[in-house]
Amino acid sequence: MDKTETRIFGAVEAGGTKFVCAVGNAQGEILAQTRFPTREPDSTLKAMLDFLREQRENFGPYAALGIGSFGPIELDFASPRYGHIRRTPKSGWSDTDIVGPIAREFSCPVGFDTDVNGAALAEHIWGCARDIDDLVYITVGTGIGGGAIVHGKTIAGLMHPEIGHVFPRRHALDANFKGICPFHDDCLEGLASGTAIIARTGFPLNELAISHPQWEIEADYLGQLCAQLVLTISPRRIIIGGGVMGQTRLLPMIREQTRQWLRGYIDRREISTAISDYIVLPGLGARAGVLGALALAMCAATQASKA
Ligand code: ZN
Repeated sequence: MDKTETRIFGAVEAGGTKFVCAVGNAQGEILAQTRFPTREPDSTLKAMLDFLREQRENFGPYAALGIGSFGPIELDFASPRYGHIRRTPKSGWSDTDIVGPIAREFSCPVGFDTDVNGAALAEHIWGCARDIDDLVYITVGTGIGGGAIVHGKTIAGLMHPEIGHVFPRRHALDANFKGICPFHDDCLEGLASGTAIIARTGFPLNELAISHPQWEIEADYLGQLCAQLVLTISPRRIIIGGGVMGQTRLLPMIREQTRQWLRGYIDRREISTAISDYIVLPGLGARAGVLGALALAMCAATQASKA
């Protein structure tokens, strides 16, 4: 058997509402997994370390560990804050070091990125974007986040993308809603996240009749996002997941709005006639997050072997 096939990786999906910790292999198989709510940092990180220690006893040392985290996070190796959560509205978590405790405990490479960059990577390795090197992964749930793969690698520059906080044009039927983003009010997350839908209408999308204008408003804002991603990052596929996308009738509406906003300017069959293969649901479903952390571990191991 190829030596690489026996390697074991630790994976942590550090979400704003829950942590999922797992052990897996390079084939994307999860061998052990636990999940618990995200409480304050000390007890949450202790539960994470306890699980990883326990599983090391079961499976042996890790080839690498990967953390896909809610953001914003510090990804600049040159910064003393590398591996920390940055300023976040999530109570108690601002400036929390999430990589340090793992790196000190386990002597192996540690991959660290946003949960959505991780999910994009997992879709690229095992999911619905295996055939392409340029893609965007969006999640529309309590908040809105997005990760991107360009030329086979996740994007990081000044920091990581914050796709959920771009500014859409207001829908004509949505002139009076203030928006719920604590930083910007009416950015995309402020207008189109699951939290925003409930703040505007009093109900989650799945409890609103299809005749309710919220469906049209939601599809319009997410269509604007997809059109702007086409115009900026130029991905070869856009994957949209998250709780709000559980409403399957929304996806075709978003595709149509994307085409409407682009107004024929992008002369590609992916937009004109094959948009149902271009804007898609995640191939890995709800597993994209934890498999993203596994993918980040695998990348860290590969980078360490080249160093
Ligand atoms: Zn915002």
